[in-house]
Amino acid sequence: MTDLNKLACKHVQDLVPYMSARRIGGHGHTFLNANESPKSEFYIFNSTTLNRYPDCQPFEVTQGMADYTGLTRDQVLVSRGSDEAIGLLIRTFCEAGEGVVIAPPTYGMYEIAANTNNALVHRARRNDDFTLSADAIAAAINEAPFKVKLVFIDSPANPLGILFDRDELTKLMGQFPEVLFVMDEAYIEYCPEATCVPLLGQYDNLVITRTLSKAFALAGIRCGFTLAHKDIIALMTKVIDPYPVPDPVAQIARQALAHGGVDLMKQRVVKTLELREKLRENLQALPSVKRVHPSEANFLLVEFENGPAVFESMLKKGIILRSFESKPGLENHIRITVGTPEELDEVMRVLTSM
Ligand code: PMP
Repeated sequence: MTDLNKLACKHVQDLVPYMSARRIGGHGHTFLNANESPKSEFYIFNSTTLNRYPDCQPFEVTQGMADYTGLTRDQVLVSRGSDEAIGLLIRTFCEAGEGVVIAPPTYGMYEIAANTNNALVHRARRNDDFTLSADAIAAAINEAPFKVKLVFIDSPANPLGILFDRDELTKLMGQFPEVLFVMDEAYIEYCPEATCVPLLGQYDNLVITRTLSKAFALAGIRCGFTLAHKDIIALMTKVIDPYPVPDPVAQIARQALAHGGVDLMKQRVVKTLELREKLRENLQALPSVKRVHPSEANFLLVEFENGPAVFESMLKKGIILRSFESKPGLENHIRITVGTPEELDEVMRVLTSM
């Protein structure tokens, strides 16, 4: 019998896949572990064109994103979630022996996408309060034992919830014109004034990723975007699969990005921010809570006196949260997505009864 594992590429044999909330699973009825929006909207769907392959870059979707962000269509690429954009960037820009800089704790897919595509990873050090400086990123770029092509920074960061300072970013983009700085703005709708989109006009080495999975409440359709200089978009368009956006996805995304869809999203964001601050207040009043981190996103990162005990108690009651117990520096930390008022009341009930 052939050992099929040995047939796989060496880097795939060694690969640890991303443990998404859905892969981890868990039996429950309240899912506050994936930073999803708690409710879906209604969409109109036409099935008469499903016999045809879709456009590689459906016009109304890319135009909708361009209108929403104030860019032109040639500065926009639509992909299967922003996860696909992360992989595409690595495949487009990293040769064998080159790689990326990340700043943990951060979104796990940067490292896994690098590992999957045989690119190398070097880590920048955050300050003790988890903020990130341009100096730390510059040091990582200079010290990496390989050529750094991409730097991935999530802003707001996941699971930290904090922003990366735009002045620090501009310093870096000027200092390293041949490195692409990827600002992952998956959660930017919760703090739209912090977007780096206005910098795209001045810096060719800025790349921004966006998604419909969070504030647009469409994680199920897998639709994300890259915003960048048109030459970067053209390069990524060479690498992307021929039909990356299924027609039903394009139909729904188009509605979400139309005026009505954007208005609904903004209303949803206002509610989420109110609930987040109420949840913060309630959590801070509990003796079992050591600290609630600042957050600009739709979740709170909470340090408990005993994180594993809280996680288990919630699990027993069917409430699934995201534990960061195994991440260095995040022992006893749990991330709680801002769900519905009822879901958050349930969380508080379990916590106060512990
Ligand atoms: N970036 C960050 C920071 C995220 O937290 C996530 C998802 N949790 C993604 C990107 C991936 O989003 P998408 O659903 O668009 O692939």
